[in-house]
Amino acid sequence: MTTPSVLIVGGGLAGLAAAVALVPRGYRVTILESRPRLGGRASSFSDPVTGQLVDACQHVSMGCCTNFAHFCRTIGVGHFLEPQRTLWFRTPDRRTSPFRSDPWPAPFHLGRALAGAHYLTTTDKLRIGWGMLQLLRESPEADPPALEWLRNHRQNARTIERFWGVVLTSALNETVDRVGLKYARKVFVDGFLRHRDGFTVHVPTVPLGRLYGEEMRGWLNAHSVEIRENCGVKAVRSPRTNVRGQCVALRDGSEMCADAVILAVPFDRVLDLLPAEIATQPFFTRIANLAPSPITSVHLWFDRDITLLPHVVLVDCVGQWVFNRGNGYVQVVVSASYDLKKQGRENIESIIVTELARVFPHSANLLRTKVVTEHTATFSAVPGVDAYRPTQATPILNLFLAGDWTRTGWPATMEGAVRSGYLAAEAILAAHGRPETLVQPDLA
Ligand SMILES: Cc1cc2nc3c(=O)[nH]c(=O)nc-3n(C[C@H](O)[C@H](O)[C@H](O)COP(=O)(O)OP(=O)(O)OC[C@H]3O[C@@H](n4cnc5c(N)ncnc54)[C@H](O)[C@@H]3O)c2cc1C
Repeated sequence: MTTPSVLIVGGGLAGLAAAVALVPRGYRVTILESRPRLGGRASSFSDPVTGQLVDACQHVSMGCCTNFAHFCRTIGVGHFLEPQRTLWFRTPDRRTSPFRSDPWPAPFHLGRALAGAHYLTTTDKLRIGWGMLQLLRESPEADPPALEWLRNHRQNARTIERFWGVVLTSALNETVDRVGLKYARKVFVDGFLRHRDGFTVHVPTVPLGRLYGEEMRGWLNAHSVEIRENCGVKAVRSPRTNVRGQCVALRDGSEMCADAVILAVPFDRVLDLLPAEIATQPFFTRIANLAPSPITSVHLWFDRDITLLPHVVLVDCVGQWVFNRGNGYVQVVVSASYDLKKQGRENIESIIVTELARVFPHSANLLRTKVVTEHTATFSAVPGVDAYRPTQATPILNLFLAGDWTRTGWPATMEGAVRSGYLAAEAILAAHGRPETLVQPDLA
């Protein structure tokens, strides 16, 4: 029997996770990646001044991201993710509240942390507690506008802005007035209510470019995965009766075929790669309804550290997360940066620099800055968004999809991307008569 082969188009986390799942199950895997590096959106760049590898945007994971954790353990990079047992919330008046769990059973483990939040009144905290209980009672599939739901469940402007909005905007990369309840509920239930370790934020101690670069490459090479970088796919070929499996046309004019093809490209690329007779099928046309949401990260290099805290979650500020990467280098992340990105680079810099000076009184000198806006950072988790997210198995024989935007039950995250890769591998195994569950269970 010949070894079954799979072509994976796209070397982001979804494609990489599919490869990591399929290789040990006897598949010959080739990854075709148009860029000169792996990792997709989870990437780093080389700082021209220091030569330091710097993440285009800091990526973090959470304790509830069990598939991402499994993927990292499998490729041997799990030890590069540092759990932050305490989250530091700070307001412009420079007051800081630690948010950490107590050794009490969920959902009570965060009760004391919420009670200690200086930026909420006692009544606000009771409102939030009541809202959380109502969320637990809500159907996991209900997806009305989250803002409407919050208002209907006794949340006021302050709890929405200073609590629900702060968490949701960072976790879903969308503003509270645009998101649907389904994923908003998921963030709070999986992250805060279900398990004591769910909310723990895991921050990589090395750049993403190393995690998904040399470390990833080491695993793939050791497992005989063929990696072709600078290898853009132009189109998926129309199915042909004389060819077993599925073929793709490369931008260099050549063609490659395999028993199965996984398209693991971003949602705004996938339809352009499909022949018209496939792209016009309703299964695929609905992908066009997915809309992008931007993230802006502002990199600042000072001549010394401006805070000793490893990170800070900002409340009532433009910046949302400040990551202190040491030696005076900080990164400020603004998710769903629709308004900010219109301001232009110089204004963005000045807004963030002024805000940092107010929130962290310091005497450090600013050496330089860099603003990076990713316009299509993630899909927008609007109400009913799952109707536009296709499954990994498609109606086309031997053609599969992967990507954080496919139907995973998760928002657009590294966890969602890895899940999609595992689900695509499950779909291939099932199509080959070898069904197996690869998706990892939730925290127990
Ligand atoms: C600024 C920013 C911050 C983020 N922060 C977080 C965070 O803190 N935590 C978190 O969990 N998630 C975060 N995310 C989301 C996370 O990065 C994504 O969910 C995840 O990386 C998506 O992986 P993917 O494989 O689905 O897609 P991608 O990473 O987009 O991979 C797709 C790959 O396909 C390649 N490709 C495209 N077209 C072709 C073609 N024609 N031929 C060959 N290859 C092609 C692309 O070059 C790319 O490498 C963030 C995203 C951004 C942009």
